[in-house]
Amino acid sequence: MKHIRWSCDPLPAPADRGTLIPLGLGNSLGDCCLNNGGTVVVTRGMNRLLDFDAETGLIRCEAGATLDEVLRFAVPRGWFLPTTPGTSFITVGGAVANDVHGKNHHWAGSFGCHVTRLELLRSDGRRLVCSLAENSDFFAATIGGMGLTGLITWVEFRLRRIVSTMIETESVKFRDLDEFFDVSEGTDARCEHTVAWVDCVTRGRGILMCGNNVDDAGAAGATLKPHTEPRLNFPHGFPSCALNRFSIRLFNQLYYSRQLRKRVRGLQHYSQFFYPLDVVKNWHRVYGAPGFFEAQIVLPPDVAKEALREIFKQAARFGQGAFLVVLKKLGSIRSPGLMSFPRPGVTLGIDFPNKGERTKKLFTEIFRIGLDTGAAFNPGKDALMPPECFAKTCPNLESFSAFIDPAFSSNAWRRLTKGLL
Ligand SMILES: Cc1cc2nc3c(=O)[nH]c(=O)nc-3n(C[C@H](O)[C@H](O)[C@H](O)COP(=O)(O)OP(=O)(O)OC[C@H]3O[C@@H](n4cnc5c(N)ncnc54)[C@H](O)[C@@H]3O)c2cc1C
Repeated sequence: MKHIRWSCDPLPAPADRGTLIPLGLGNSLGDCCLNNGGTVVVTRGMNRLLDFDAETGLIRCEAGATLDEVLRFAVPRGWFLPTTPGTSFITVGGAVANDVHGKNHHWAGSFGCHVTRLELLRSDGRRLVCSLAENSDFFAATIGGMGLTGLITWVEFRLRRIVSTMIETESVKFRDLDEFFDVSEGTDARCEHTVAWVDCVTRGRGILMCGNNVDDAGAAGATLKPHTEPRLNFPHGFPSCALNRFSIRLFNQLYYSRQLRKRVRGLQHYSQFFYPLDVVKNWHRVYGAPGFFEAQIVLPPDVAKEALREIFKQAARFGQGAFLVVLKKLGSIRSPGLMSFPRPGVTLGIDFPNKGERTKKLFTEIFRIGLDTGAAFNPGKDALMPPECFAKTCPNLESFSAFIDPAFSSNAWRRLTKGLL
């Protein structure tokens, strides 16, 4: 590991003339920030705010700054992230390199849609300022480019105005996937933020959570108070056997039953609404030492329902329950990123405890379902996708390859392109 501390520093030299890959906070869930046998460039020290326009909300910061840090600066001034994933513990560089999306993708697109400029440091020492107008091909390759086009040193992006940190929320219970699709038609049109939790053990009931930012500064409880630090820390050494079909079934039953009425309206602080998992530091330790694998798939709308049923059926066949199962419709706002994962359709994100071969066989089935239905997988979150699947679901692979920095590589890239390039 080598550290870079200032955006004006040179790129650290790789050890033994091996390859480099940047590391943000390592929260990408897959292996795109790992580089066995090579060097990982730790960017966290490079986290300064460089410029901010309080009139337009245009912010420029070093790429190692976290969303958490950006929010602590911006929220008291009446600004918020244009879109945010389900955790604030990621860096701005990581948000660009995986072109993350949030609960408002159908209204705002992905993070890359709000980036106006960035600086790319290449291993030959060149510094390229990239935007839609300048070095636009490198701009497109770097958004969603999984850190392979060079080191992003700083990013300029647009924040969105808020007058309150509160979100007006609505939770709607649905009894199966048919009802989810019916209910979400209406909520997607009315609500900027929507996402559903699904009980995959019962193959499709769940709770749809949606919301809009409070837009009246005089409304009850409206403040510009940012979030607080997580108070709880999940302990080390949690036994992985505690997470089994029965405990997952029980959790899902309790979670579904906690809401008694069909539709509940409320008011939540943004941290509660966007970042429920950030409350407990190191929540992933619940999976014990073997960890977990995440699958994120985006399915074409016309086949989504049947494909989801088939995925849940396969999970049951392999005896794999899951409690973090998230369903969301992605909208049609295109990202400038060549390799961006978000595209119109229905996306399922599901975390399976690692049960060894059983889990890997289940993933083989999920990849088969994906290929049969014209779906795509999120390479930034995935750790198991085989090259054939990547090649078929990633149409811009060849054009992207031309922009990869010759000194950069990662475990994910070597796995995904084995025998392809
Ligand atoms: C609880 C949780 C919820 C999540 N929810 C969502 C979600 O809703 N939507 C979503 O899209 N994702 C989601 N994610 C995934 C996560 O947001 C992204 O994978 C994000 O990219 C991780 O950022 P990081 O800073 O941890 O980057 P890392 O994991 O360290 O790296 C990710 C990629 O970015 C590259 N990179 C990092 N910094 C730089 C840099 N300075 N220059 C060039 N490349 C760089 C790395 O090389 C790597 O390829 C979630 C993750 C967690 C843990």
